[in-house]
Amino acid sequence: TGQPESVLIENLKSQYDTIDVSKVEKFVDLPLSQKSIKGLKESKYTKLTDIQKASVPLALQGKDILGAAQTGSGKTLAFLLPVLERLYCEQWSRVDGIGALVITPTRELAYQIFEALKKVGKYHDFSAGLIIGGKDLKFERKRMDQCNIVICTPGRLLQHMDENPLFDCVTMKILVLDEADRCLDMGFQETMNAIIANLPPMRQTLLFSATQTKSVKDLARLSLKDPSYVSVNEMT
Ligand code: ADP
Ligand code: MG
Repeated sequence: TGQPESVLIENLKSQYDTIDVSKVEKFVDLPLSQKSIKGLKESKYTKLTDIQKASVPLALQGKDILGAAQTGSGKTLAFLLPVLERLYCEQWSRVDGIGALVITPTRELAYQIFEALKKVGKYHDFSAGLIIGGKDLKFERKRMDQCNIVICTPGRLLQHMDENPLFDCVTMKILVLDEADRCLDMGFQETMNAIIANLPPMRQTLLFSATQTKSVKDLARLSLKDPSYVSVNEMT
């Protein structure tokens, strides 16, 4: 306490490379911002699930992730925490534009992620928005420009990219592809490819999928750089 934010951030970042994964049980065992720790505590999250243990430390280190885990294993926090910490460390603020993009197959999943973000990210100062259709494009576009964290469905995002040549995500630092296998099953393969082609190459990407089909591997090849493979089977 009392220390400038920049000192706290440097202190956190200096711990990333020496995280001893075998000793990480609780969220407080990780070098996370006090803002995230507070949000986690209030949401009654204490211990990490297996997929969170396997992926959060690597994601904090800036690695691309190809994660395989069943439904219900806790993937949402596995990507939301790295998103929050990344933007926190960059001292991202509302005027900085889009810092993170989360793509998920359905509106319902987008809502769930948004709700989880509002809870765990409560003490951060980022703006977040849903881009899932249902509102007119102009309204969404105006709002999107003011969002730091955008949660979207593939079709709607591509529509924005296509219809607004100034659609600005060059600032984007971190991309999350949630339930990638379902996105592809729903026929979004071309859409996903087009979206990825539109995004800045200098970014971190976290891809999560319950299954590792050929089309998921193709998407991974296209979107990830030297990924760390993280696979967790909660059934065993
Ligand atoms: P997935 O995306 O892998 O299907 P979710 O992220 O939706 O899983 O999480 C499934 C459930 O587990 C949610 O109700 C969530 O609140 C809960 N959960 C996630 N992480 C933790 C944790 N570390 N401790 C306790 N509950 C958790
Ligand atoms: Mg999920």
